[in-house]
Order: sequence, then structure tokens, then C-alpha cells
Amino acid sequence: MLTHRPLRLGPLENNSFIIVDPAAREAAVVDVGFEPEAVIDAVRAAGLTVRWLLGTHAHYDHVAGMRTVQEALGGDYRLHPADRPLLEWLGQQAAAFGLPPAEPPAVVHDLADGERVPLGGETIEVIHTPGHSPGGVCFRWNDWLWVGDTLFAGSIGRTDLPGGSFEELERSIRTRLYPLGDDLQAFTGHGPFTTIGRERLTNPFVGEGARLA
Ligand SMILES: [Zn+2]
Ligand SMILES: [Zn+2]
Repeated sequence: MLTHRPLRLGPLENNSFIIVDPAAREAAVVDVGFEPEAVIDAVRAAGLTVRWLLGTHAHYDHVAGMRTVQEALGGDYRLHPADRPLLEWLGQQAAAFGLPPAEPPAVVHDLADGERVPLGGETIEVIHTPGHSPGGVCFRWNDWLWVGDTLFAGSIGRTDLPGGSFEELERSIRTRLYPLGDDLQAFTGHGPFTTIGRERLTNPFVGEGARLA
């Protein structure tokens, strides 16, 4: 059994997540761009051990706080290798968006499509969904899906940044996410959460009506 605590942090309404196995008191922290102290405080208050720092992708707003979290709480940072170049360009990303400089975690471990990351007595599945960035992934446990910037409520991740591709993003969503079923909760990297079914039916970019437009 897993649970999670979402925290909406920073100027871009980024969603960070603390995924927890309450029985094992183990946690995985997903995507901290801004206000890492809020995440650190929440993990400490709950008395959790951080095993993993998981990145859905390596854009600044999902990575910049990870090193601070790691220095305070530990945990291995993991990212799909196709996003390593973005991680190395973190300084340029900061400059491009007028954000303060940041250092990535010192050590980066890979994530692979189809891998199951253990947390307590459970596992979290890795689903490679390129398109917003080359190494974008979603994380799945049962009918919960943490989607990063792959899919939003009524929108999709932008595809005009380096390594982005609308065709690839559409294929990822249609072939990797929709088949998982309409009932899945989609915990997005920004803004409100949604469900796979709602986006499959109504999303203006990748929903049922999108191809008719
Ligand atoms: Zn992004
Ligand atoms: Zn983002």
C-alpha cells in the first residue's frame, strides 16, 4: 500500500510529491524544483526515510531543488538517461528562464522503461513517455500515475523546448498512457490533477475530438 503527499510549490505551480510506504516508513520524492525546504520539513515531520529522488524529466522546474533535498535527506537521484543532457544544461536553463542558478544532484542513476522501482513492500513502474523531453517518464503504482509534464488537465506539455516533439508526445500519450485505462488518476507536474479517461475524451490536443480539428 502506498500513499502520497502532493505539494504545490513555486511560481509555476509545480507539483512535487512525497510517495510513501507507511508500513516501511520509506519515501520516494518526485520532482522538486522550488522550495525544497517545504519538502524537507514534510519528510522530517513524518519521520520518513528517503530511498529515492525520482525525476519525471530534467527541466529546471522539476530538478533545481533536488540537490538540496538530497543533501538534507539522502536518497539516490534517478532519471531517464535521455534527459542527462538537459541536466547538464541546468545552468543554461536557469539563465534562459531568468531563474536562480542551481546544481544538479552530484550522482545520477538511470531509470529504464518497464523497470519497477522498489519502495517498501511495493514497486513503482517506470513508463518512458518522450515528447515533452527525450527522457520524460511517468511513474505508475496501481491506478495512480505521476505524469510530470507529459499530460495536464486540458492540455499537454510544451514541445518547443530542446528535444521536444509533438508527434512523439502524442504517440507516448496514445500508446503508453491511454491503454492503461480510463480510471487512472493522473498526478500532473503543474496545476490541477485529472484522470486518463477525462483527457482521453476531452483533451483538446490528444483527446477524441483532437484529430477532427
Ligand atoms: Zn518540463
Ligand atoms: Zn514543468
